[in-house]
Amino acid sequence: MCIFCKIAAKEIPSYCLYEDDEVMAFLDISQVTKGHTLVIPKQHYDNFLECDSKTLKHMMEVAQKLANRICKTLQAEGMNILSNVNEVAGQSVPHFHIHLIPRYSKEDACV
Ligand code: 5GP
Ligand code: ZN
Repeated sequence: MCIFCKIAAKEIPSYCLYEDDEVMAFLDISQVTKGHTLVIPKQHYDNFLECDSKTLKHMMEVAQKLANRICKTLQAEGMNILSNVNEVAGQSVPHFHIHLIPRYSKEDACV
């Protein structure tokens, strides 16, 4: 079982921001900026390219709602929303995930 499957199964703890039957969102253990969040499908797909379209649609809807909530709550002024596909593109965990990385103009808001 991969590390994000273990997080989805609650075998590894995480700071969970959102959960339903198919999707989970939790804080990245290594925060690029304050509020850096990962959205994952609970079912294992290796990456964005492998994910089925129904799950992908739901993931994007959850990601959009959370992105709005994070921006409002943390007063972020922008956000990077991205998914790395395969090691060559920087993917280090081989379970599909979307990064939500809030951006701030003031440097002291970054971690
Ligand atoms: P990737 O490099 O695959 O695009 O992103 C994987 C992300 O998962 C990294 O930003 C890394 O910090 C995060 N990560 C790796 N292991 C864990 C973990 O056990 N818990 C949490 N919350 N994040 C993790
Ligand atoms: Zn997995």
